Amino acid sequence: MADGDRQPQKYCFCPKSEAGQNLGGLRTLQAAMGRIVADLHAHTTFSDGLYSPDELADHMAAAGLSGFAVTDHDTVAGLADSEKAAHARDLDFIPGIEMSTQLDGVEMHLLGYYINVADPAIVRYTTDVPQKRYDRAEAIVLRLNELGVPIEMDEVASVAGEGTIGRPHIASVLHRSGQVSSMAEAFGRYIRDGAPAFVPTVKVSTLDAIEIIHGAGGVAVLAHPGHWTRHSTLLTLIRAGLDGIEVRHPSHKSWLSTYYRKLVTDFVLVATGGSDFHGHRSGEDRHLGKFGVFEDELSALRTAHHNRLKSVA
Ligand code: AMP
Ligand code: ZN
Ligand code: FE
Ligand code: FE
Repeated sequence: MADGDRQPQKYCFCPKSEAGQNLGGLRTLQAAMGRIVADLHAHTTFSDGLYSPDELADHMAAAGLSGFAVTDHDTVAGLADSEKAAHARDLDFIPGIEMSTQLDGVEMHLLGYYINVADPAIVRYTTDVPQKRYDRAEAIVLRLNELGVPIEMDEVASVAGEGTIGRPHIASVLHRSGQVSSMAEAFGRYIRDGAPAFVPTVKVSTLDAIEIIHGAGGVAVLAHPGHWTRHSTLLTLIRAGLDGIEVRHPSHKSWLSTYYRKLVTDFVLVATGGSDFHGHRSGEDRHLGKFGVFEDELSALRTAHHNRLKSVA
């Protein structure tokens, strides 16, 4: 990916640039906005998170947050339990989903907040995708076996439990059985994109996913754009109706957050943030309470949802 795509002239906020010197100003602005009240990106055992909804809610409360979202991969199965867990602890709950999508062959994760889980297109999506992910996990296991790595699908399925199966479950089985010394090694040697046992997931187009979320009354937010997204792609998504950008994410350097915030301001989008908490990666706990949204951003997200409901009705 050309650097020019990531940091075009107008949006160049890298620390070396003159504009980068505005970072101090941004921090002052953030301080003036108050504290982070809710973490809008977290996973439970219903996808590839380590913690159940109750355990996750305990972690969020312990981090001093007053609310959180659950954004499991391609499933809404954990939302009812998560809402109960949040409310039992007097926490605000924001229902969500993280959809695995692609545009022009590039993977993009799309967050859908406040979707109606009974919407037929959501029901279809959340039924089809886990089945396709299961089939794909079987294909990865087969490839591993062909490479001489002993691993059984039953064990992977049992680690995934009620959750949608993903590569982290396969990595975990490889680690437990001593085939590799860490999850990272499992990815590095066998299942990272392009590695010998890698099989891609079947993904919907990001543009279709935006429509599915909107049809279900939800707010469509691009997750961690810093991973994969070119500037031109961001503009395409915004033209297609993207409502918001995940500005704050542990993987974003501060200049990237500044660049996304400028896009949000220029195009009147919603800014979100979250820790992308899975519970099983080292150091993740320290992100809790630091990545999330301020009160006014949470209100803007709710307003975007209410406006969406009016347009669906
Ligand atoms: P999947 O949706 O099954 O393709 O798995 C994607 C998940 O695997 C991501 O959300 C990450 O949690 C994890 N992941 C992807 N690549 C790596 C990597 N190189 N090292 C560790 N975890 C990874
Ligand atoms: Zn995940
Ligand atoms: Fe993601
Ligand atoms: Fe995530």
